[in-house]
Amino acid sequence: MEEPPCILCGADNRRSVFERSSAEGEAFTLVRCASCGLRYLSPRPTEAEIGRYYQSTYFTQRTDRGYDDYFAPGTRSQIERLFLLNLEDLGFEDFERSLPGPRKSLDIGCAAGYFVNMLASRGWTARGIDISESCVAFARERLGLDIALGGYLEQRYEGGFDLISLWATIEHLHRPDLFLEKIREDLAEGGRLYISTCRAGGPFMLLRGERWRYYNFPEHLYFFTFRQLKRLLEMKGFEVEALSTYGSGFGAPGSIVRKAADYAAKRFGLGDMMVIAARRAQGPGSD
Ligand SMILES: [Zn+2]
Repeated sequence: MEEPPCILCGADNRRSVFERSSAEGEAFTLVRCASCGLRYLSPRPTEAEIGRYYQSTYFTQRTDRGYDDYFAPGTRSQIERLFLLNLEDLGFEDFERSLPGPRKSLDIGCAAGYFVNMLASRGWTARGIDISESCVAFARERLGLDIALGGYLEQRYEGGFDLISLWATIEHLHRPDLFLEKIREDLAEGGRLYISTCRAGGPFMLLRGERWRYYNFPEHLYFFTFRQLKRLLEMKGFEVEALSTYGSGFGAPGSIVRKAADYAAKRFGLGDMMVIAARRAQGPGSD
C-alpha cells in the first residue's frame, strides 16, 4: 500500500472523509486534500498490487463495481448508445468532418474495444490499449481490432493521433498526471482528448453521501470535480473545449423517477458523470 501526495497541488496533507469496506471486507479510506480539496483513495494498493483486485470476473459478473457480462450483446449496445450520446455532446461530428484524413485514434483503457470498433467502422485507423487480458483477447479475436495489451505509459507511438480517448478510465489511474503528459505528446496538431469520468461535488453525490454509486474502492482512485479536472488539464498543457454532464443514479433504473432525475441532470448540468473535450493549449509556454 502507498499514501501518495495530492496529484493536483502536491500537498502531502489530507483529512479522512470516510472509511468503507470493499466486497472482500478490506477497509479503504477516502481522503480529501487539506490544501485543494481533491478527493482520492489513500492508502491505496500500489500499481503492482492493484491487479489482484481486478479478477477476470470484473467484466463478467455483476458486483457493485463490475459489469453484468460486459461481452454480452445487450451490454454492448447499451455502451455504444452511451458513446453516441457522449460524442454528440462533444461535437464529434464537426470535429471528424474537419479532419482531412486518414484519421487516427487511440482509446486508452479500451476494455472490449467497442469504441475502437465504432471508429474503425467509420473509416478511422483506430487502435486501443488495455491491461485486461480477457478484454484484449475479445477485442482482437471477436472484433478483429488493433489492440495492445499493457500499460500506456510504456508504449511508443509513431506519429500523432487525431483523437485519444479515456472513457471511464482516468479515475482508475495511479498517475493521471503522467498519462496526460504523454497524451499531449501523442496527439497530432489540432488533435482532441475526450475524457469521461464520474463527477464529484454535484448534488447527486452529496445526496448519496457515502453510498454514491462511484465510490468503488479500490478500483476508483480519484474523484474529480469539473474544476479540479480542468485545473489538472491546464497544468498539463490542455484547454477544455467542451463539457457536458449526465446521469443521476437517483431512483430505480428504468423508473419514472430515474428518467426525470437523469433528464434534469443533463438539462441543468448537474450529472454525476462528465464528458470533456480538450485540446493542446495555445499561447505562451506551449508549442
Ligand atoms: Zn491538493
